[in-house]
Amino acid sequence: MLELAIVGAAGRMGHTLLEAACDEPGVTVTAASERPDSDALGMDTGALIGRPASGVQVRASLADCVDDFTVAIDFTQPENSLQSLQLCAAHGKAIVIGTTGFSEAQKKRIEEYAKRVPIVLAPNMSVGVSLTLTLLDTAARVLGDDYDVEILEAHHRHKVDAPSGTALRMGEVVAAAKGRDLASCAVYAREGHTGARDGSTIGFATMRGGDIVGEHTVVFAGTGERIEITHRASNRATFARGALRAARWLSGRRPGLYGMQDVLAVG
Ligand code: NAD
Repeated sequence: MLELAIVGAAGRMGHTLLEAACDEPGVTVTAASERPDSDALGMDTGALIGRPASGVQVRASLADCVDDFTVAIDFTQPENSLQSLQLCAAHGKAIVIGTTGFSEAQKKRIEEYAKRVPIVLAPNMSVGVSLTLTLLDTAARVLGDDYDVEILEAHHRHKVDAPSGTALRMGEVVAAAKGRDLASCAVYAREGHTGARDGSTIGFATMRGGDIVGEHTVVFAGTGERIEITHRASNRATFARGALRAARWLSGRRPGLYGMQDVLAVG
């Protein structure tokens, strides 16, 4: 039985992960943490999701339960995920990170930690998005530079980073397929007299509102036709199931930085 720690257990994804883990054979949640001022501290993880008591209490820090798990799953916020990573590296634990919004400097720190600890880092853990990334790579190669690429994404009103990590990942995949670097061709906002569109760019548009779980469309707009590749998540369980699959795949693996393409062996 694979023993898991859920960091951010009272969050939207933490909650969904606790539920998904109850229904997943071969895994058990043996540790959980929340921020030190959370109302959930001391609560039983079963009570947190309206299920029978698990005997596992929510702690104020992952450090308080570091001997109680094999793989940590962290969907929180960037600085905290780095702290979880530091702790896992110091104690030889693997970690699945679903958090988005890392800066370039933070991503470099993750790469450094990956020399010592096995990490799955993915801005979107759903199987459907992993397949979508493969489709995008193919589309970008086939369609080439005659088609303008725009990436549209929509999320719930509580999301704090934009564009979404998934939209950025999609942009990276398309840019790489065209032999470009996203950092030098992305256009994140347009306003006023922008001039005509530069065909070498990849544009982004972000919408926030209500309870939208996550929607992404990549448009390849050519002359006389338009191709749209869309992924819509209607339920967070798809991300949680992917994270549990990643945790199982990661257990016992060599140190390194892995993505969902590795976990699912696609691409
Ligand atoms: P949320 O705000 O509902 O949950 C985050 C939780 O982390 C909160 O409960 C918060 O209290 C907790 N937290 C903050 N600091 C902490 C600390 N020091 N120790 C322990 N817990 C701490 O957010 P969410 O919607 O669950 O999303 C969390 C992250 O996951 C975001 O970055 C989001 O973009 C990302 N996300 C990724 C995927 C994916 O498939 N990779 C899917 C959905 C969301």
